[in-house]
Amino acid sequence: MNTLLLVMISIVAGLREVSAQDAECVRERAAMVETIRGYARSHGVFGQQKPSERVLEAMGQTQRHLFIPERSCSIAYADMPVPIGFGQTISQPLIVALMTQLANVAPDDVVLEIGTGSGYQAAVLARLARNVCTIEIIPQLAEAAAKTLRELAYDNVNVRRGDGYAGWPECSPFDAIVVTAALGQVPQPLIEQLRVGGRLVMPVGPAYTTQQLTVVEKIGPSETTTRVVGLVRFVPFTRSPD
Ligand code: SAH
Repeated sequence: MNTLLLVMISIVAGLREVSAQDAECVRERAAMVETIRGYARSHGVFGQQKPSERVLEAMGQTQRHLFIPERSCSIAYADMPVPIGFGQTISQPLIVALMTQLANVAPDDVVLEIGTGSGYQAAVLARLARNVCTIEIIPQLAEAAAKTLRELAYDNVNVRRGDGYAGWPECSPFDAIVVTAALGQVPQPLIEQLRVGGRLVMPVGPAYTTQQLTVVEKIGPSETTTRVVGLVRFVPFTRSPD
């Protein structure tokens, strides 16, 4: 057998493996969406609002298993957080859906995410928005997420490495901001970079315990309203030493 044939056989085998896994994941991803729908119905976590079909569709289309280290369908689509290395986790699907719903993203929106992690939440947002800018403080995670998003052709996501506290002025103003790490207060630069009429969703509270999932709406150039949606537990928002 010549080398070219061997290469071709292994490419075909590789493709088959990926598509078999994807086919399996289609079922598990659909089950995940039903779990979110059912949970929202019975526990009312989404409040008066139901999760919108747009958000559920984005969750149903985003291949969560390709954002986690093991790429396992059963682990990826269970309703639980998954470790992604460096002591960080990707939130459970229900929380991703809830935060996405609260961000209330329209097709022409520009969204900022602080805490890229695996890139999964950014990918879900990218299906709903025009543009997503996302910042990750751990260089290895920022690089891995940028690679995954590039390979999956999420062309409307920009990943930056750094401390997200100061936001991303060049990418602003934002229609929505999603912060996926916990801090005692909302960073003022993020409020400044939010467009009037925009929303910021963030776990506010101390590290290593529960925090209040908070929605801040900017109702005027220097006016906001704040509401608490429920209790959550997120990894800490860390600050860069410089
Ligand atoms: N949204 C991610 C999961 C977030 S975990 C996903 O979908 O996979 C929270 C992430 O926030 C971690 O990766 C952590 O390194 C990052 N983080 C913590 N403090 C940060 C800061 N100041 N700026 C940017 N990222 C930060």
